[in-house]
Amino acid sequence: MMKLACDLCGKTLLLDEDVRYVVNIEVFAAADPMELTAEDLKKDLRRELRELVERMKKMDPEKAQDSVYRSFRFELCPACQREYLKDPLRRQPPGL
Ligand SMILES: [Zn+2]
Repeated sequence: MMKLACDLCGKTLLLDEDVRYVVNIEVFAAADPMELTAEDLKKDLRRELRELVERMKKMDPEKAQDSVYRSFRFELCPACQREYLKDPLRRQPPGL
């Protein structure tokens, strides 16, 4: 059997707890609907695309990926779930 632990406090889950909670976090670049202007149509899109590809070649692949999409999955015990829900974006320093 796979042993699970709370990702915050390390407490063993399933054995000690009836309930566990899953936190899925997705961070991705939001794409707004594109609006084409007359100015955009005049641009050399082929050249801009080539330049973009060149820039991405020089980037660290992990950083390039992080700038577009990252996801996280955490398992929490009930006590940590309650704490997490109080401040999911960690606006307050821990302990307050
Ligand atoms: Zn916990």
